Amino acid sequence: MREYRLAAIPGDGIGTEVIAAGLEVLDLVSALDGGFRFEAEHLPWSSEYYLKHGYYIPAGGVDYLKGFDAIFFGAVGSQQVPDHVSLWGLRLPIAQGLDQYANVRPARVLPGVGSPLKRSEGVDWVIIRENSEGEYAGNGGRTHQGFPHEVGTETAVFTRAGVERIHRFAFELARTRERKHLTLVTKSNAQRYGMVLWDEVFAEVAGDYPDVTTDRELVDAVTTRMVAKPQSLDVLVATNLHADILSDLAAALSGSLGIAPTANLNPERQFPSMFEPIHGSAFDIAGKGLANPVATFWTAVMMLEHLGEDAAATRLMAAIESVTAAGVLTGDLGGTATTAEVTQAVCERLRAAY
Ligand code: ATP
Ligand code: MG
Repeated sequence: MREYRLAAIPGDGIGTEVIAAGLEVLDLVSALDGGFRFEAEHLPWSSEYYLKHGYYIPAGGVDYLKGFDAIFFGAVGSQQVPDHVSLWGLRLPIAQGLDQYANVRPARVLPGVGSPLKRSEGVDWVIIRENSEGEYAGNGGRTHQGFPHEVGTETAVFTRAGVERIHRFAFELARTRERKHLTLVTKSNAQRYGMVLWDEVFAEVAGDYPDVTTDRELVDAVTTRMVAKPQSLDVLVATNLHADILSDLAAALSGSLGIAPTANLNPERQFPSMFEPIHGSAFDIAGKGLANPVATFWTAVMMLEHLGEDAAATRLMAAIESVTAAGVLTGDLGGTATTAEVTQAVCERLRAAY
């Protein structure tokens, strides 16, 4: 029996609801499969925990995570804590501390889900976000505080090593796809140092991947292409900030933030990777049982694939698609189903599939 130690960090708001649903589905998948099981440990790190203790992660917490096979993360964000404090308190220290430099964000229109695009058939993208440096390097500061000429600087940091490894990762991933096409997204017309380094390193790395076709877009132009010619895109690689924005757009174009999954990967497997829905804590619907659990289920599919449980991953994805196709949808997708109803529907499909 293959055993996986899983760190579950539900976090805040609907994070707790969708992670509970995700663990229920994962337990069923492993029981039905029979070849593996999860040993999940709940870590209570959240904004409530922060308000009580003054920190999100206790001393040594990130090191403690190194003992797990994977991290299943919900969301962080609270009305009582400024967003930059909660993000830098919990999610970024994990992603950066475990060198999860490749953030993979698939976007696809699932069967039965309406897209705001006029022509959405064939939309199937993977956005690869550089997850360790760039605009979120934490480099900058405030000077002249309290004076009218106060200054805040936010310096994006791009290292050749950091840029090269994300491009290599993107080419490797693009090569596994049917269309094998990779689009580089930058803003190298206006930002002439880091972004030009991105362009140059991309061209160098491309030489090693003659089987992958490539093109380049500026980040502003690629947003119009995502809407007007969505079928022309396959895999996109972009910086931390740009890909953050593009993947929210991609999620909306594929129906809702409530279905979009993401994997924060340490591709060398030196440290565990982290799997999470891309949405946040969504206070407006928290505690009501209305959150769409599909993003988290799809996230669980990515985690199963990462762990090498491909058969279980395929069955879970098929169960999710069968449920959306049948119109069992939460409010964000125009339906009336609750989190529990969607979860039960996925569980039923799974039982029928084994
Ligand atoms: P955070 O500050 O943690 O990012 P947020 O309040 O900005 O959280 P998001 O989760 O980013 O909220 O999503 C924005 C809105 O999209 C939510 O307020 C909610 O209405 C909707 N939404 C997001 N995720 C889901 C989901 N899983 N199910 C249903 N609706 C969702
Ligand atoms: Mg948000």
